[in-house]
Amino acid sequence: MNFQALHAKQQAFFHTNETKNISFRIEQLKKFKQLFDAHESELYSAIYEDFGKSEFETYISELSLLYHEINLFIKNIKRWSKRKRVSTGLANFPAKSYIIPEPLGVTLVIGAWNYPYQLSLLPAITALAAGNTVILKPSELPSRTAAVMAKIINSNFPENYFHVVEGDAETTTELLKHRFDKIFFTGSTPVGKIIYRAAAKHLTPVTLELGGKSPTFVLADCDIKMTAKRIVWAKFFNAGQTCVAPDYILVEKTIEQKLIEALIIEIKEAYKDSDDIDENYVRIINTRNFDRLAQLIDTDKVCFGGKVDREKRFISPTILQNISFDDEVMKDEIFGPILPILVYTNIDEAIAKVKALPKPLSCYIYSKDRKAIDKILKEVSFGGGAINDSVMHLSNSNLPFGGVGFSGMGSYHGKSGFDTFSHHKSILDKPFWFESSVKYAPYTKKKMALIKWLLR
Ligand code: NAD
Repeated sequence: MNFQALHAKQQAFFHTNETKNISFRIEQLKKFKQLFDAHESELYSAIYEDFGKSEFETYISELSLLYHEINLFIKNIKRWSKRKRVSTGLANFPAKSYIIPEPLGVTLVIGAWNYPYQLSLLPAITALAAGNTVILKPSELPSRTAAVMAKIINSNFPENYFHVVEGDAETTTELLKHRFDKIFFTGSTPVGKIIYRAAAKHLTPVTLELGGKSPTFVLADCDIKMTAKRIVWAKFFNAGQTCVAPDYILVEKTIEQKLIEALIIEIKEAYKDSDDIDENYVRIINTRNFDRLAQLIDTDKVCFGGKVDREKRFISPTILQNISFDDEVMKDEIFGPILPILVYTNIDEAIAKVKALPKPLSCYIYSKDRKAIDKILKEVSFGGGAINDSVMHLSNSNLPFGGVGFSGMGSYHGKSGFDTFSHHKSILDKPFWFESSVKYAPYTKKKMALIKWLLR
Protein backbone atom coordinates (compact mmCIF):
# COMPACT_ATOMS: atom_id res chain seq x y z
CA MET A 1 0.00 0.00 0.00
CA ASN A 2 1.17 3.51 -0.77
CA PHE A 3 1.19 5.14 2.66
CA GLN A 4 2.35 8.46 1.31
CA ALA A 5 -0.75 8.68 -0.88
CA LEU A 6 -2.99 7.59 1.98
CA HIS A 7 -1.45 10.17 4.30
CA ALA A 8 -1.78 12.90 1.66
CA LYS A 9 -5.44 12.04 1.07
CA GLN A 10 -6.20 12.26 4.79
CA GLN A 11 -4.34 15.54 5.06
CA ALA A 12 -6.26 16.98 2.10
CA PHE A 13 -9.56 15.88 3.62
CA PHE A 14 -8.63 17.35 6.99
CA HIS A 15 -7.89 20.66 5.29
CA THR A 16 -11.43 20.80 3.89
CA ASN A 17 -12.51 21.47 7.52
CA GLU A 18 -15.29 18.89 7.23
CA THR A 19 -14.10 17.04 10.36
CA LYS A 20 -14.36 20.28 12.37
CA ASN A 21 -18.07 20.20 11.88
CA ILE A 22 -19.65 18.78 15.07
CA SER A 23 -22.68 17.33 13.32
CA PHE A 24 -20.37 15.49 10.88
CA ARG A 25 -18.51 13.95 13.83
CA ILE A 26 -21.69 12.89 15.59
CA GLU A 27 -23.00 11.34 12.38
CA GLN A 28 -19.77 9.31 11.98
CA LEU A 29 -19.88 8.08 15.57
CA LYS A 30 -23.49 6.99 15.18
CA LYS A 31 -22.61 5.21 11.97
CA PHE A 32 -19.69 3.46 13.66
CA LYS A 33 -21.90 2.28 16.49
CA GLN A 34 -24.58 0.96 14.14
CA LEU A 35 -21.98 -0.88 12.06
CA PHE A 36 -20.36 -2.58 15.03
CA ASP A 37 -23.72 -3.41 16.48
CA ALA A 38 -24.77 -5.00 13.19
CA HIS A 39 -21.54 -7.02 12.93
CA GLU A 40 -21.40 -8.13 16.56
CA SER A 41 -21.62 -11.85 15.85
CA GLU A 42 -18.71 -11.62 13.37
CA LEU A 43 -16.68 -9.77 15.98
CA TYR A 44 -17.37 -12.52 18.55
CA SER A 45 -16.40 -15.35 16.18
CA ALA A 46 -13.16 -13.64 15.12
CA ILE A 47 -11.91 -13.11 18.64
CA TYR A 48 -12.94 -16.62 19.69
CA GLU A 49 -10.97 -18.07 16.78
CA ASP A 50 -7.97 -15.90 17.64
CA PHE A 51 -7.64 -16.81 21.30
CA GLY A 52 -10.76 -18.43 22.63
CA LYS A 53 -12.27 -15.29 24.15
CA SER A 54 -15.92 -15.75 25.09
CA GLU A 55 -18.78 -13.49 24.06
CA PHE A 56 -19.25 -12.53 27.70
CA GLU A 57 -15.65 -11.38 28.21
CA THR A 58 -15.62 -9.70 24.78
CA TYR A 59 -18.75 -7.74 25.52
CA ILE A 60 -17.82 -6.57 29.01
CA SER A 61 -14.17 -5.77 28.31
CA GLU A 62 -14.31 -4.53 24.72
CA LEU A 63 -17.61 -3.72 23.04
CA SER A 64 -19.46 -2.28 26.03
CA LEU A 65 -16.58 0.15 26.67
CA LEU A 66 -16.68 1.25 23.05
CA TYR A 67 -20.43 1.82 23.06
CA HIS A 68 -20.21 3.65 26.37
CA GLU A 69 -17.52 6.03 25.09
CA ILE A 70 -19.33 6.65 21.81
CA ASN A 71 -22.49 7.62 23.70
CA LEU A 72 -20.43 9.86 25.96
CA PHE A 73 -18.84 11.59 22.97
CA ILE A 74 -22.13 12.02 21.13
CA LYS A 75 -23.55 13.64 24.24
CA ASN A 76 -20.58 15.89 25.03
CA ILE A 77 -18.51 16.82 21.98
CA LYS A 78 -20.49 19.94 21.26
CA ARG A 79 -19.83 21.20 24.78
CA TRP A 80 -16.21 20.03 24.88
CA SER A 81 -15.45 21.66 21.51
CA LYS A 82 -16.78 25.06 22.53
CA ARG A 83 -14.34 27.87 23.13
CA LYS A 84 -13.92 28.48 26.84
CA ARG A 85 -13.68 31.94 28.35
CA VAL A 86 -10.97 32.46 30.97
CA SER A 87 -10.18 35.57 32.97
CA THR A 88 -7.79 38.13 31.46
CA GLY A 89 -6.27 40.37 34.13
CA LEU A 90 -5.73 44.08 34.30
CA ALA A 91 -2.58 44.17 32.14
CA ASN A 92 -4.64 43.38 29.02
CA PHE A 93 -7.73 45.46 29.78
CA PRO A 94 -10.19 45.56 27.96
CA ALA A 95 -9.39 42.27 26.17
CA LYS A 96 -11.10 38.95 26.71
CA SER A 97 -9.39 35.55 26.69
CA TYR A 98 -10.53 32.17 25.56
CA ILE A 99 -9.32 28.70 24.66
CA ILE A 100 -10.38 26.98 21.44
CA PRO A 101 -10.12 23.17 21.37
CA GLU A 102 -9.19 22.12 17.84
CA PRO A 103 -8.36 18.78 16.21
CA LEU A 104 -4.71 18.01 15.53
CA GLY A 105 -5.03 16.60 12.02
CA VAL A 106 -3.96 13.22 10.65
CA THR A 107 -3.48 10.73 13.48
CA LEU A 108 -1.92 7.28 13.67
CA VAL A 109 -3.31 4.78 16.17
CA ILE A 110 -1.27 1.62 16.81
CA GLY A 111 -3.04 -1.11 18.79
CA ALA A 112 -1.94 -3.98 21.01
CA TRP A 113 -3.32 -7.51 20.73
CA ASN A 114 -4.64 -8.34 24.19
CA TYR A 115 -7.97 -6.45 23.93
CA PRO A 116 -7.81 -6.14 20.15
CA TYR A 117 -11.08 -4.28 19.60
CA GLN A 118 -11.00 -1.97 22.58
CA LEU A 119 -7.32 -0.99 22.37
CA SER A 120 -7.51 -0.13 18.67
CA LEU A 121 -11.00 1.26 18.36
CA LEU A 122 -11.33 3.27 21.58
CA PRO A 123 -8.41 5.59 20.73
CA ALA A 124 -9.56 5.66 17.09
CA ILE A 125 -13.10 6.81 17.89
CA THR A 126 -11.72 9.29 20.42
CA ALA A 127 -9.54 10.78 17.68
CA LEU A 128 -12.56 10.99 15.34
CA ALA A 129 -14.72 12.53 18.08
CA ALA A 130 -12.08 15.25 18.52
CA GLY A 131 -12.25 15.96 14.78
CA ASN A 132 -9.17 14.19 13.42
CA THR A 133 -8.69 11.70 10.62
CA VAL A 134 -7.34 8.26 11.59
CA ILE A 135 -5.06 5.63 10.17
CA LEU A 136 -5.41 2.60 12.45
CA LYS A 137 -2.80 -0.17 12.62
CA PRO A 138 -4.17 -2.94 14.86
CA SER A 139 -1.93 -5.69 16.21
CA GLU A 140 -1.28 -8.43 13.68
CA LEU A 141 -1.22 -11.21 16.30
CA PRO A 142 -4.98 -11.74 16.55
CA SER A 143 -5.19 -11.82 12.75
CA ARG A 144 -8.92 -12.52 12.48
CA THR A 145 -9.94 -9.60 14.68
CA ALA A 146 -7.60 -7.32 12.70
CA ALA A 147 -9.17 -8.55 9.47
CA VAL A 148 -12.75 -8.08 10.66
CA MET A 149 -12.03 -4.52 11.84
CA ALA A 150 -10.38 -3.73 8.50
CA LYS A 151 -13.33 -5.17 6.60
CA ILE A 152 -15.99 -3.26 8.53
CA ILE A 153 -14.16 0.07 8.62
CA ASN A 154 -12.58 0.08 5.16
CA SER A 155 -15.78 -0.83 3.38
CA ASN A 156 -17.88 1.76 5.21
CA PHE A 157 -15.66 4.80 5.76
CA PRO A 158 -13.73 6.68 3.06
CA GLU A 159 -9.99 6.10 3.28
CA ASN A 160 -9.31 9.83 3.40
CA TYR A 161 -11.11 9.90 6.79
CA PHE A 162 -10.70 6.57 8.61
CA HIS A 163 -8.69 3.63 7.34
CA VAL A 164 -7.31 0.39 8.80
CA VAL A 165 -3.90 -0.80 7.70
CA GLU A 166 -3.16 -4.42 8.53
CA GLY A 167 0.42 -5.50 9.10
CA ASP A 168 3.28 -6.16 11.48
CA ALA A 169 6.31 -4.24 12.76
CA GLU A 170 7.56 -3.72 9.22
CA THR A 171 4.28 -2.04 8.22
CA THR A 172 4.41 0.17 11.33
CA THR A 173 7.99 1.13 10.52
CA GLU A 174 6.88 2.25 7.04
CA LEU A 175 3.93 4.21 8.45
CA LEU A 176 6.16 5.94 10.99
CA LYS A 177 8.23 7.53 8.21
CA HIS A 178 5.38 9.96 7.58
CA ARG A 179 4.68 13.11 9.54
CA PHE A 180 1.58 12.54 11.61
CA ASP A 181 -0.02 15.20 13.78
CA LYS A 182 -0.42 12.70 16.61
CA ILE A 183 0.60 9.11 17.32
CA PHE A 184 -1.28 7.06 19.88
CA PHE A 185 0.47 3.80 20.71
CA THR A 186 -0.56 0.92 22.97
CA GLY A 187 1.94 -1.85 23.57
CA SER A 188 5.16 -2.82 25.28
CA THR A 189 7.72 -0.43 26.75
CA PRO A 190 10.55 -1.47 24.36
CA VAL A 191 8.37 -0.85 21.28
CA GLY A 192 7.10 2.36 22.90
CA LYS A 193 10.68 3.64 22.82
CA ILE A 194 10.91 2.84 19.08
CA ILE A 195 7.69 4.76 18.44
CA TYR A 196 8.88 7.72 20.51
CA ARG A 197 12.15 7.88 18.57
CA ALA A 198 10.39 7.76 15.20
CA ALA A 199 7.90 10.45 16.29
CA ALA A 200 10.70 12.72 17.51
CA LYS A 201 12.04 13.03 13.95
CA HIS A 202 8.83 14.90 13.01
CA LEU A 203 8.22 16.43 16.46
CA THR A 204 4.96 14.50 16.49
CA PRO A 205 3.25 14.42 19.89
CA VAL A 206 2.73 10.91 21.25
CA THR A 207 0.59 9.16 23.78
CA LEU A 208 2.21 5.93 24.91
CA GLU A 209 0.03 3.41 26.72
CA LEU A 210 2.60 0.88 27.94
CA GLY A 211 2.79 -1.90 30.52
CA GLY A 212 4.68 -2.83 33.67
CA LYS A 213 4.51 -4.91 36.82
CA SER A 214 1.44 -3.73 38.73
CA PRO A 215 1.77 -4.51 42.45
CA THR A 216 -1.11 -5.50 44.71
CA PHE A 217 -0.69 -4.74 48.39
CA VAL A 218 -2.78 -6.93 50.69
CA LEU A 219 -2.74 -5.67 54.27
CA ALA A 220 -3.60 -7.77 57.33
CA ASP A 221 -6.84 -5.93 58.10
CA CYS A 222 -8.48 -6.50 54.70
CA ASP A 223 -11.62 -8.55 54.06
CA ILE A 224 -9.74 -11.65 52.87
CA LYS A 225 -12.62 -13.37 51.09
CA MET A 226 -13.61 -10.27 49.09
CA THR A 227 -9.97 -9.43 48.40
CA ALA A 228 -9.36 -12.91 46.98
CA LYS A 229 -12.55 -12.78 44.89
CA ARG A 230 -11.64 -9.45 43.29
CA ILE A 231 -7.98 -10.35 42.70
CA VAL A 232 -8.83 -13.71 41.11
CA TRP A 233 -11.28 -12.08 38.71
CA ALA A 234 -8.85 -9.32 37.75
CA LYS A 235 -5.83 -11.59 37.40
CA PHE A 236 -7.32 -14.48 35.43
CA PHE A 237 -9.71 -12.49 33.22
CA ASN A 238 -8.29 -12.79 29.67
CA ALA A 239 -5.89 -15.38 31.21
CA GLY A 240 -3.86 -12.60 32.81
CA GLN A 241 -3.15 -10.95 29.46
CA THR A 242 -4.25 -7.56 30.76
CA CYS A 243 -1.97 -4.53 31.01
CA VAL A 244 -3.52 -3.52 34.36
CA ALA A 245 -3.81 -7.05 35.82
CA PRO A 246 -2.38 -7.44 39.33
CA ASP A 247 1.09 -8.67 38.36
CA TYR A 248 2.08 -9.86 41.83
CA ILE A 249 0.80 -9.79 45.40
CA LEU A 250 2.63 -8.30 48.36
CA VAL A 251 0.85 -9.71 51.40
CA GLU A 252 1.46 -9.11 55.09
CA LYS A 253 3.02 -12.32 56.45
CA THR A 254 0.39 -12.92 59.16
CA ILE A 255 -2.37 -13.52 56.58
CA GLU A 256 -0.36 -15.18 53.81
CA GLN A 257 -1.82 -18.68 54.25
CA LYS A 258 -5.37 -17.44 54.74
CA LEU A 259 -5.14 -15.35 51.57
CA ILE A 260 -3.75 -18.25 49.53
CA GLU A 261 -6.56 -20.55 50.77
CA ALA A 262 -9.13 -17.90 49.82
CA LEU A 263 -7.55 -17.39 46.37
CA ILE A 264 -7.70 -21.14 45.70
CA ILE A 265 -11.37 -21.30 46.72
CA GLU A 266 -12.18 -18.42 44.35
CA ILE A 267 -10.23 -19.93 41.43
CA LYS A 268 -12.04 -23.26 41.89
CA GLU A 269 -15.36 -21.47 42.09
CA ALA A 270 -14.75 -19.42 38.93
CA TYR A 271 -13.01 -22.02 36.77
CA LYS A 272 -14.46 -25.23 38.22
CA ASP A 273 -10.99 -26.71 38.70
CA SER A 274 -10.98 -27.16 34.94
CA ASP A 275 -7.75 -28.36 33.36
CA ASP A 276 -9.05 -27.65 29.90
CA ILE A 277 -10.11 -24.61 27.96
CA ASP A 278 -13.75 -23.86 28.36
CA GLU A 279 -16.03 -20.97 27.55
CA ASN A 280 -14.82 -18.93 30.49
CA TYR A 281 -11.09 -19.16 30.07
CA VAL A 282 -8.96 -17.59 27.37
CA ARG A 283 -5.97 -19.17 25.62
CA ILE A 284 -2.47 -17.68 25.48
CA ILE A 285 -2.19 -15.61 22.30
CA ASN A 286 0.63 -17.57 20.60
CA THR A 287 3.28 -20.23 21.25
CA ARG A 288 6.02 -17.64 21.74
CA ASN A 289 4.13 -16.17 24.69
CA PHE A 290 3.10 -19.63 25.87
CA ASP A 291 6.78 -20.73 26.01
CA ARG A 292 7.79 -17.52 27.78
CA LEU A 293 5.10 -18.03 30.43
CA ALA A 294 5.66 -21.77 30.86
CA GLN A 295 9.31 -21.05 31.65
CA LEU A 296 8.28 -18.67 34.44
CA ILE A 297 6.50 -21.46 36.33
CA ASP A 298 9.05 -22.73 38.83
CA THR A 299 7.49 -26.11 39.69
CA ASP A 300 9.07 -26.08 43.18
CA LYS A 301 7.14 -22.91 43.96
CA VAL A 302 3.72 -23.80 42.52
CA CYS A 303 1.16 -23.88 45.31
CA PHE A 304 -1.84 -24.12 42.98
CA GLY A 305 -2.37 -24.80 39.26
CA GLY A 306 0.67 -24.99 37.04
CA LYS A 307 -1.01 -27.13 34.37
CA VAL A 308 0.14 -26.35 30.84
CA ASP A 309 -0.76 -27.64 27.38
CA ARG A 310 1.39 -26.27 24.57
CA GLU A 311 -0.78 -27.55 21.75
CA LYS A 312 -3.86 -25.79 23.15
CA ARG A 313 -1.82 -22.82 24.41
CA PHE A 314 -3.46 -23.38 27.79
CA ILE A 315 -2.04 -22.40 31.18
CA SER A 316 -4.27 -22.94 34.18
CA PRO A 317 -4.66 -20.23 36.84
CA THR A 318 -1.41 -20.61 38.76
CA ILE A 319 -0.25 -19.36 42.16
CA LEU A 320 3.45 -19.28 43.05
CA GLN A 321 4.55 -19.09 46.70
CA ASN A 322 7.86 -18.29 48.45
CA ILE A 323 8.74 -15.80 45.74
CA SER A 324 11.28 -13.03 46.20
CA PHE A 325 12.12 -10.02 44.05
CA ASP A 326 15.11 -12.01 42.72
CA ASP A 327 12.99 -14.72 41.09
CA GLU A 328 12.77 -14.85 37.30
CA VAL A 329 9.01 -14.22 37.44
CA MET A 330 9.71 -10.83 39.07
CA LYS A 331 12.04 -9.60 36.30
CA ASP A 332 9.45 -8.46 33.73
CA GLU A 333 5.71 -7.94 33.36
CA ILE A 334 4.15 -11.44 33.49
CA PHE A 335 1.18 -10.86 31.17
CA GLY A 336 -0.29 -14.30 31.81
CA PRO A 337 -2.20 -16.37 34.41
CA ILE A 338 0.66 -16.70 36.90
CA LEU A 339 0.27 -15.00 40.28
CA PRO A 340 3.39 -14.78 42.46
CA ILE A 341 2.89 -14.21 46.19
CA LEU A 342 5.53 -12.24 48.04
CA VAL A 343 5.30 -11.63 51.78
CA TYR A 344 6.40 -8.68 53.85
CA THR A 345 6.59 -7.90 57.55
CA ASN A 346 7.44 -4.23 57.25
CA ILE A 347 5.36 -2.05 54.91
CA ASP A 348 8.20 0.46 54.46
CA GLU A 349 10.45 -2.29 53.11
CA ALA A 350 7.70 -3.50 50.78
CA ILE A 351 7.15 0.04 49.48
CA ALA A 352 10.91 0.50 48.98
CA LYS A 353 11.06 -2.70 46.88
CA VAL A 354 8.21 -1.52 44.66
CA LYS A 355 9.81 1.91 44.27
CA ALA A 356 13.07 0.29 43.15
CA LEU A 357 11.23 -1.11 40.09
CA PRO A 358 10.09 1.04 37.13
CA LYS A 359 6.88 2.99 37.82
CA PRO A 360 3.98 0.59 37.15
CA LEU A 361 0.82 1.19 35.14
CA SER A 362 -1.39 0.29 38.12
CA CYS A 363 -1.28 -0.42 41.82
CA TYR A 364 -3.92 -1.97 44.06
CA ILE A 365 -4.29 -1.75 47.83
CA TYR A 366 -6.56 -4.02 49.85
CA SER A 367 -7.10 -2.65 53.36
CA LYS A 368 -9.50 -0.73 55.58
CA ASP A 369 -6.69 1.25 57.18
CA ARG A 370 -6.95 4.74 55.61
CA LYS A 371 -3.59 5.80 57.03
CA ALA A 372 -1.79 2.86 55.47
CA ILE A 373 -3.64 3.34 52.17
CA ASP A 374 -2.72 7.03 52.06
CA LYS A 375 0.90 6.22 52.85
CA ILE A 376 1.14 3.88 49.83
CA LEU A 377 -0.73 6.35 47.62
CA LYS A 378 1.65 9.11 48.65
CA GLU A 379 4.87 7.15 48.32
CA VAL A 380 4.39 4.96 45.24
CA SER A 381 4.13 6.54 41.80
CA PHE A 382 1.96 4.65 39.27
CA GLY A 383 -0.46 5.35 36.41
CA GLY A 384 -3.75 4.69 38.19
CA GLY A 385 -5.31 2.09 40.39
CA ALA A 386 -7.93 1.09 42.92
CA ILE A 387 -8.48 0.63 46.62
CA ASN A 388 -10.07 -2.71 47.49
CA ASP A 389 -10.52 -3.56 43.83
CA SER A 390 -8.40 -4.22 40.74
CA VAL A 391 -8.66 -3.28 37.06
CA MET A 392 -12.12 -1.66 37.40
CA HIS A 393 -10.77 1.90 37.58
CA LEU A 394 -10.42 1.81 33.80
CA SER A 395 -14.17 1.40 33.40
CA ASN A 396 -14.82 4.88 34.80
CA SER A 397 -14.37 7.32 31.94
CA ASN A 398 -14.13 10.22 34.40
CA LEU A 399 -10.73 8.80 35.40
CA PRO A 400 -7.96 9.58 32.86
CA PHE A 401 -6.29 6.29 31.95
CA GLY A 402 -2.55 6.17 31.34
CA GLY A 403 0.87 5.37 32.72
CA VAL A 404 3.81 7.27 34.14
CA GLY A 405 7.53 6.79 33.52
CA PHE A 406 8.17 3.40 31.90
CA SER A 407 4.43 2.59 31.93
CA GLY A 408 3.65 5.41 29.52
CA MET A 409 2.81 9.05 28.96
CA GLY A 410 -0.47 10.83 28.33
CA SER A 411 -3.93 9.48 28.96
CA TYR A 412 -7.35 8.85 27.44
CA HIS A 413 -10.92 7.76 28.25
CA GLY A 414 -13.75 10.29 28.27
CA LYS A 415 -12.82 13.96 28.32
CA SER A 416 -9.12 13.20 28.88
CA GLY A 417 -9.09 11.32 25.55
CA PHE A 418 -10.81 14.21 23.80
CA ASP A 419 -8.11 16.54 25.17
CA THR A 420 -5.35 14.10 24.16
CA PHE A 421 -6.45 14.35 20.53
CA SER A 422 -6.99 18.13 20.63
CA HIS A 423 -4.84 21.21 20.63
CA HIS A 424 -5.96 23.94 22.98
CA LYS A 425 -5.47 27.19 21.12
CA SER A 426 -5.15 30.19 23.45
CA ILE A 427 -6.49 33.52 22.22
CA LEU A 428 -6.30 37.04 23.63
CA ASP A 429 -8.98 39.09 21.89
CA LYS A 430 -8.69 42.90 22.12
CA PRO A 431 -10.85 45.74 20.76
CA PHE A 432 -9.40 48.93 19.21
CA TRP A 433 -11.15 51.46 21.39
CA PHE A 434 -8.63 51.64 24.24
CA GLU A 435 -4.87 51.34 24.65
CA SER A 436 -2.83 52.23 27.69
CA SER A 437 0.49 53.92 26.97
CA VAL A 438 2.19 52.29 29.95
CA LYS A 439 4.07 49.50 28.14
CA TYR A 440 5.39 51.76 25.36
CA ALA A 441 8.71 53.61 25.23
CA PRO A 442 9.90 56.00 26.40
CA TYR A 443 10.12 54.13 29.70
CA THR A 444 9.77 56.51 32.62
CA LYS A 445 9.99 56.13 36.39
CA LYS A 446 6.30 56.98 36.63
CA LYS A 447 5.41 54.20 34.19
CA MET A 448 7.66 51.78 36.08
CA ALA A 449 5.90 52.59 39.35
CA LEU A 450 2.51 52.15 37.73
CA ILE A 451 3.50 48.79 36.16
CA LYS A 452 4.82 47.55 39.48
CA TRP A 453 1.57 48.53 41.14
CA LEU A 454 -0.56 46.95 38.38
CA LEU A 455 1.35 43.70 38.01
CA ARG A 456 2.15 42.99 41.65
P1 NAD B 1 3.94 -4.84 21.24
O1 NAD B 1 4.70 -3.66 21.72
O2 NAD B 1 4.70 -6.06 20.87
O3 NAD B 1 3.05 -4.47 19.95
C1 NAD B 1 2.19 -3.35 19.92
C2 NAD B 1 2.08 -2.83 18.49
O4 NAD B 1 3.35 -2.41 18.04
C3 NAD B 1 1.58 -3.87 17.48
O5 NAD B 1 0.64 -3.23 16.64
C4 NAD B 1 2.82 -4.29 16.73
O6 NAD B 1 2.57 -4.64 15.41
C5 NAD B 1 3.67 -3.04 16.79
N1 NAD B 1 5.11 -3.34 16.80
C6 NAD B 1 5.72 -4.40 17.37
N2 NAD B 1 7.05 -4.33 17.21
C7 NAD B 1 7.29 -3.18 16.52
C8 NAD B 1 8.47 -2.54 16.04
N3 NAD B 1 9.67 -3.07 16.22
N4 NAD B 1 8.34 -1.37 15.38
C9 NAD B 1 7.12 -0.82 15.18
N5 NAD B 1 5.98 -1.39 15.61
C10 NAD B 1 6.04 -2.55 16.26
O7 NAD B 1 2.87 -5.13 22.39
P2 NAD B 1 1.79 -6.28 22.48
O8 NAD B 1 2.49 -7.60 22.66
O9 NAD B 1 0.79 -6.15 21.41
O10 NAD B 1 1.07 -5.91 23.85
C11 NAD B 1 1.55 -6.27 25.10
C12 NAD B 1 2.14 -5.09 25.84
O11 NAD B 1 1.30 -3.99 25.74
C13 NAD B 1 2.27 -5.36 27.33
O12 NAD B 1 3.45 -4.79 27.81
C14 NAD B 1 1.08 -4.64 27.93
O13 NAD B 1 1.22 -4.27 29.27
C15 NAD B 1 0.99 -3.45 27.03
N6 NAD B 1 -0.36 -2.95 27.03
C16 NAD B 1 -0.61 -1.72 27.55
C17 NAD B 1 -1.90 -1.23 27.59
C18 NAD B 1 -2.24 0.11 28.15
O14 NAD B 1 -3.36 0.55 27.94
N7 NAD B 1 -1.33 0.78 28.83
C19 NAD B 1 -2.94 -2.01 27.09
C20 NAD B 1 -2.64 -3.26 26.57
C21 NAD B 1 -1.36 -3.72 26.52
